[in-house]
Amino acid sequence: MKSIQDCAILHNGVKMPWLGLGVYKVKNGDEVINAVKTALEAGYRHVDTAAFYDNEEGVGQAIKESGVPREQIFVTTKVWNSDQGYETTLKAFETSLKKLGMDYIDLYLVHWPVRGKYKETYKALEKLYKDGFVRAIGVSNFQIHHLEDLMAECEIKPMVNQVEYHPRLTQKELHAFCKQHHIQLEAWSPLMRGGLFDDPTLLEISKKYGKSPAQVILRWDLQNEVVTIPKSITPQRIKENADVFDFELTPEEMEKIDALNMNKRIGSDPDNFDF
Ligand code: NAD
Repeated sequence: MKSIQDCAILHNGVKMPWLGLGVYKVKNGDEVINAVKTALEAGYRHVDTAAFYDNEEGVGQAIKESGVPREQIFVTTKVWNSDQGYETTLKAFETSLKKLGMDYIDLYLVHWPVRGKYKETYKALEKLYKDGFVRAIGVSNFQIHHLEDLMAECEIKPMVNQVEYHPRLTQKELHAFCKQHHIQLEAWSPLMRGGLFDDPTLLEISKKYGKSPAQVILRWDLQNEVVTIPKSITPQRIKENADVFDFELTPEEMEKIDALNMNKRIGSDPDNFDF
């Protein structure tokens, strides 16, 4: 991966940029508009939002006003838990599309594996895909058993699984399973929301390359072939997070970062969430 334009190729041939901007907890209106515009100016071509984030309007407005052609930007959104079910998902998608002011979405995800509902929800995604409203479909927060359960019945294999992934939660088995099935793994909270920046291993590697711990973590994602979507609203950090294509970690450094794993989540457990 040599440039911010570089893309993962999903199993249906669609290209998904390895690096994107996450906008969870970014306020609709100026805050999200400025963050997305700054990212697009810095070369990002991928934005990750969700109905739940309540900022799809701002994301859409920023993209429109940026002057970057829509087809050059990869936009992900997600169906929220309370909308899961076949008809309700189709309706939720229409709302998201309207809020974004777009006529298609690049990637639509089932946000969480809501028990008893995610298969019907996914059927709606398959319909949206077949009808040409989404270029790719996938899931988020799915464990191996959720994927196996879904794949036993679905028609179109998910193209992406977006999960919590950072040096304290390396998800090796899930990653291997996804690779085996050509499901692209995508990292949420890749920076562990800032919780790892004083780690001595990361600091030592950062010093060697003249990069920040955030940049080292993002580079580790890329070299692990995991799509990554760090969030920031600070222009300097948005740019910093994109400046990760001019250095390469050695295999030993990759292993050292892998060894920071503690199977530690900062978000909810997909097998035990109640929202
Ligand atoms: P993150 O790990 O990207 O951390 C973001 C925080 O790290 C920022 O708020 C800032 O405080 C800090 N930061 C960012 N860049 C920095 C830098 N260069 N230097 C110093 N500090 C920096 O956390 P996140 O927002 O939880 O995750 C990223 C994205 O993943 C979200 O915005 C969202 O799009 C997605 N997400 C998805 C799910 C899901 O269930 N699918 C859940 C959480 C997040």
